[in-house]
Amino acid sequence: MIKKNDIIPLKITSATAEGSGVGKTSDGMAVFVPLTAVGDEIEARILKVKKTCAFGKIENIIKPALSRVAPDCPHFSRCGGCVWRHISYEEECRIKRQKVIDAVERIGGIQAPVMPIIASEKTLRYRNKAQLPVGTAPDGSLQMGFYTFHSHRIIDCDDCLLQPDAFAVVMRVTREFISKTDNDIYDERTGKGRLRHLYIRSGEVTGELMVCYVVNGNGLKREDLLVKMLRDALPSLKTVIINSNREKTNVILGAKNRTVFGKGYITDVLCGLSFKISPFSFWQVNRAQAERLYAKAREYAALTGDEILLDLYCGTGTIGLTMAKVCKELVGVEIIADAVRDAEPNAAVNSICNARFVCADAPQAAAQLKREGVSPDVVVLDPPRKGCGEELVGTIAKMKPERVVYVSCDPATLARDLKYFEQSGYKTIEITPVDMFPRTAHVETVVLLSGI
Ligand code: SAH
Repeated sequence: MIKKNDIIPLKITSATAEGSGVGKTSDGMAVFVPLTAVGDEIEARILKVKKTCAFGKIENIIKPALSRVAPDCPHFSRCGGCVWRHISYEEECRIKRQKVIDAVERIGGIQAPVMPIIASEKTLRYRNKAQLPVGTAPDGSLQMGFYTFHSHRIIDCDDCLLQPDAFAVVMRVTREFISKTDNDIYDERTGKGRLRHLYIRSGEVTGELMVCYVVNGNGLKREDLLVKMLRDALPSLKTVIINSNREKTNVILGAKNRTVFGKGYITDVLCGLSFKISPFSFWQVNRAQAERLYAKAREYAALTGDEILLDLYCGTGTIGLTMAKVCKELVGVEIIADAVRDAEPNAAVNSICNARFVCADAPQAAAQLKREGVSPDVVVLDPPRKGCGEELVGTIAKMKPERVVYVSCDPATLARDLKYFEQSGYKTIEITPVDMFPRTAHVETVVLLSGI
């Protein structure tokens, strides 16, 4: 039986979805070792032993796996953003697809074809959004960057390889601005201080840039100087926003936005349509992959022009609007009012006249639409990580759509919901994993279900 601080030889034979390698001790106990690769032969130092498994760290790599690559980011292994910078992208894609297969088989008990993962062409600088916490180090210096894993310790960085180059410029200008002014930095423990987060968004096609400062209060001192410094450094800057968040909470954005430069939103292009993006509205962080995800969803929806399409959890309307021209009527449902307020003009700007949006909780809205006699032929749903749940599956099943296209960002809740669909008379026809977030642990999936 192993114990803490033992050093044991270990062959890594599998990987968890969260980025740990797993090997078995001679008596069959699983040991989780972060930053290893499948195929590694290592010596592991045991850090913690539980009843059925143990946790360790690499003491020595005896024989590295073939899939290993040299991590290209100096913050990798401490920063909580990426988990897969030490293995090839092919290996990462293999692990992600396996995560989907394991979830649907083990949690969902479903046998359906899992297609090859749709890999991302870009594995660097693919993100169009960053939320960077700002804090103060023990020595009083400014920290801006990312949290370490499962903590609120900030790793100070100047750049992130997942972000566009312009974001590093925003970070640099913000640091200069803080050093020139006496704006103090928020302290999570005391709830005092002003600047909490830097929140940046960009339009990949339009090049437009939004910079938003989350402050504990109404604003920053010398906002005029801040805007000038940002504009001088960034010709693509379209808007600067101050978001007030006075709550002692982990939620990044507060309820109130004040625009100090520009219109308070940016625009970008997705599947040939133009979209308005404001600070609160959901917008896919990897635009190019979103196009490929939506193309797969569109293929699964197989619309001919005669159908009523229900797009649940629609955000700013993106998925449904990219299909609106091939259906008779589109109804979108979204809980965030600001996103709906963006979805409506998004339809108008793109000359889409057959769409309407309902601001409501998806299960309630679906039940209400059912009572109104709306009977969709195709339902697309794209819920947040917790999935859609049994109640909504039941309501959708009662509406009897011919096809359901489920877009998911969490294979486990997807698998659970697929099981509910199967129990309600739907069959899982095909599953396609899509890598929207290279180098991180997340994998997206799109599934076609068919009424029997
Ligand atoms: N389909 C969109 C957005 C997907 S993200 C796109 O691809 O861009 C999930 C969306 O579900 C978010 O916009 C979130 O605000 C919304 N949401 C979360 N809980 C909800 C609920 N209970 N009812 C309706 N929408 C909800």
